[in-house]
Amino acid sequence: INKSANSQFQNYLFDLHQKYQSLKEGLLADYIPELKKANPEWFGISIVTTDGQIYQIGDYQQTFTIQSISKPFVYGMALENYGREVVLNKVGVEPTGQAFNSIDLDQKNNRPYNPMVNAGAIATTNLLTVEGASERLEQILKMFSRYTGREHNVDWSVFLSEKATGSKNKALAYLMHNSGMISDNIEETLDLYFQQCSISVSCHDLAMMGATIANKGVNPITGEQALNKYYVQDVLSVMHSCGMYDFAGEWAYRVGLPAKSGVSGGLVMAIPGKCGIGIFSPLLDAKGNSVRAIKVCEQLTRDLGLHLYNAV
Ligand code: GLU
Repeated sequence: INKSANSQFQNYLFDLHQKYQSLKEGLLADYIPELKKANPEWFGISIVTTDGQIYQIGDYQQTFTIQSISKPFVYGMALENYGREVVLNKVGVEPTGQAFNSIDLDQKNNRPYNPMVNAGAIATTNLLTVEGASERLEQILKMFSRYTGREHNVDWSVFLSEKATGSKNKALAYLMHNSGMISDNIEETLDLYFQQCSISVSCHDLAMMGATIANKGVNPITGEQALNKYYVQDVLSVMHSCGMYDFAGEWAYRVGLPAKSGVSGGLVMAIPGKCGIGIFSPLLDAKGNSVRAIKVCEQLTRDLGLHLYNAV
């Protein structure tokens, strides 16, 4: 892209941001009390191309906790540790059509349905190989640093807030343990899961993560390999089929690109070979997706013809 196309696109992004800033629909997540402290006005968009160009607007530096957006990336680590077949045996790849915290498990195959719902994510976190609780957290933080090119830490007040109110996730973990789906270190796994959800990121970080995975697992700015390229397709596939809660099917239809959202209002989208997009706006719809983020992605993909199956 040359200089004038560059500023043209930056103007386009400015208009898009302005258009949806005035949209006030949606509610802040409140089942994790700390998340209620977010400012409903926050709204940032960041795009990083696979050749390292950066476009951003609004509150793109505002940090928030990554929540469910951590799930596909931790899934990538599990794949690197155990390989596709072992992981597939432990966690399926079937969309559920149900809420993210559904208690439903795939009893027939003795595994949770997919790594994007809480049950599957907890089982995935249970698959990390390093010994020791702090070592595991360190391994996760280092993985995110490879994607974003900067250091990350846990927002401990969000972690404590979720740990104190996370009975349903605890129930899920004990239920899975009861069926032999996860190993004995249940409480340690839960803590680690709550910690991975409480890692601080900005939507620029999310765009870097999307760009890295869109770039065959290589961070386009630092050149570091964040994910073995052999597993890029697995991570993108589950994002495509299960990444947007029980809106995943409609998302695949309307937007047609792999994405993952989280209850703090973030969204990461990857356009293979082109770019990563990070959006942050904490007002959520009834399914737990950021209202503004969905609008932006719908319009952006329509305007630029980015849907994977677009033929015009
Ligand atoms: N930590 C959250 C939970 O397990 C993540 C939920 C989400 O972002 O979907 O409830």
